[in-house]
Formats: sequence, C-alpha cells, structure tokens
Amino acid sequence: MKKYNFNAGPSKLPREVMEATAAACLDFEGSGLSLMEMSHRAKKFQPVVDEAVALFKELLDIPEGYSVLFLGGGASLQFCMVPYNLLEKKAAYLNTGVWAKKALAEAKLFGETVEVASSAESTYSYIPKDFVVPADADYFHITTNNTIYGTEIRKELDSPVPMVADMSSDIFSRPIDVSKYNIIYGGAQKNLSMAGVTFVIVKDDCLGKVTRPIPTMLDYRTHIKGGSMFNTPPTVPIYCALQTLKWIKKCGGVKEMERRALERAKVLYGEIDRNKLFRGTVAEEDRSVMNLCFVMNDEYKELEADFMQFATERGMVGIKGHRSVGGFRASCYNAMDMEGVNALVACMQEFEKQH
Ligand SMILES: *Cc1c(COP(=O)(O)O)cnc(C)c1O
Repeated sequence: MKKYNFNAGPSKLPREVMEATAAACLDFEGSGLSLMEMSHRAKKFQPVVDEAVALFKELLDIPEGYSVLFLGGGASLQFCMVPYNLLEKKAAYLNTGVWAKKALAEAKLFGETVEVASSAESTYSYIPKDFVVPADADYFHITTNNTIYGTEIRKELDSPVPMVADMSSDIFSRPIDVSKYNIIYGGAQKNLSMAGVTFVIVKDDCLGKVTRPIPTMLDYRTHIKGGSMFNTPPTVPIYCALQTLKWIKKCGGVKEMERRALERAKVLYGEIDRNKLFRGTVAEEDRSVMNLCFVMNDEYKELEADFMQFATERGMVGIKGHRSVGGFRASCYNAMDMEGVNALVACMQEFEKQH
C-alpha cells in the first residue's frame, strides 16, 4: 500500500533527495568511498558545504554581512546559544507554544527576560497580536511556526529591536526579510534534511557584544571562523540538506514552495471546514500551512479512534495530533504533494459518508 507521510519531524523528504543521499552513502561521487566514511576535510566534501551555504543565501536572498552555519545540537541547543551570545541586558520573547516557552526558559539563565505576550491560557490556539516589545531589549525572539499547535506567523512582524526566530518548521516555505533578524535558526529535520543538522543564519556584527565568556563550541564566532568545520560536522545530513536546496531551486524557489503550501492548505482546511465530522483547532487567521491540526466535532468525539484506524488502513502515516492538543495533525512540509493531501481528503470524505 502506498504510504502518505504526514509526520511532524523527522518528516517527508522529496524522493530524489533521499535517492541522491542514499547513493552518496554507497559511493560518494565516484570516489569509491561512502560519504559516511569520508573526512569532512576531504577535498571533495568542502564543495558540499560551500554549495549548501551559497544556495541558502541565494534562495532566501540573505543580505551581505550574514553567515550560514551547519551545527549539531538541534534547535534546542540554539535556545541556549542565542542568549549566551546575544543577551547582555534584557531579551523579549513571544510565548506561542512549548518550543517558544523552552527558548524563554533558557534565556532566563542569562539575564532579564520579558514575555511580551502568551497564548498559553488557550492551549496556544492563536498568535497574540497586542504586545509591546521593549525598545531597550537586546533582541525579540519569535517562533514563526508552532509545530505542535498549528499556528504560524506568516507576515513579517514589526519590531523596534532586531528579531531572532526559530524557523525549524517553516524555513524555505516562503520568502523572508532576513534583514529584520539577527539570528534565524532551526533543526533541519522538518523542512530541509534528515535529523542531525541545525542551520543558523547569523548577522556577523551582532556578535561579540556580551561581556560574559562563552565556551568555544557555543560561540557562533568559532563556527563562522571555522566555516562550520571547527569540529566534525554532520556530513551526511548536510549533504542531504544540499540535495533539498537543489530541489527547491529546481522547483522554482521559496515563492513556489509558498504557492504549493497555500494550495495544500486551501484544500485541506477547506475539507476540515466543510466536513461535518471535523473542525480546526486554532484561530483561522493564524492557521499554519505547515502543520494542519484538527479534531472531531464534539458530537462525533467517540469516532476519533475509528477515524485514526480508518486513515491508517488507507496509508496515512503520522496524523495523530500532539498529546497536548489531541485529535489530528497533518504536517504538510515542502515535500508533501497534492496527491498526499487529496488522499487524506478522500479519506475524510469516505469516513463522513459512513456516519
Ligand atoms: C522540532 C522543533 C524544535 C526542536 O528541534 P530539535 O532539533 O529536536 O531540538 C524546536 N522548535 C520548533 C519550532 C520545532 O518544530
């Protein structure tokens, strides 16, 4: 049976990305060696990092003065690295979900923090709109896509201070104005690569301003200087990321990724809203086009497990909602095609007919 992968992360990748990565794991570009057993300092590997950095800059239109890094530790290590490197006096955070809250918790270890707004009281079902960012903050941290709850900040916010963004689950899904950010980071395992690499886009001149000493490995400047090669980087995940970047470029870039995401979301949210069995879980204007969350309508609540089984039998994978929201979550990252979305919609319609 054909499987449709709606996993929240690690998640679906384009078939050709996986094939190219698998081939390189057996024989890296005719070298007779596997990518897995090659030095990251090999002559043949350096172009992989160089090309990935160049494509990052090209696809996201990154201005001069920014570096692109490939690190270990996941987005979760960035929760700590960001304040370590940037928080001198005070930092502002928008609390839109568990990941945002975790980022804030780390920042508290380094200095004064301000939670400018939070939607925790309603299980993070919306993005707070009325808040003031203190003009004397060192930075303002946001989580652009809240993977667990299915809310997203798709329009660039205005901020009196440079922003820092966790874009783990919506990077490369739309054009962004990088100049508004001092740092953009994320785990690659949602929209970019297999698990194991973390991307960081950092504005060089925002560094070196804090007075605390920073351990070598946690200092962004170490990795800028070392070209992401200060220590051994995750070579296979970086290669896999490069294949995805090439795929995005071939498809038409981030504008085309956005067009596809909006098309998928229109069809799937359309069905969620139309189908009598289901309803969405978040404010309509804040709906994520990456993670689409829905539950059974109250009068059909007892059918939840049945639908889960029904969908699983038809090849749907990973549609169980996060335990804190319940119901269902269809993660539709860049690699998800309309065939997958249509298969899920057909499933929902067939199930509706039976009830
Ligand atoms: C998955 C996710 C994380 C955690 O990423 P790790 O790489 O596992 O540390 C952080 N933030 C967001 C928005 C996520 O979706």
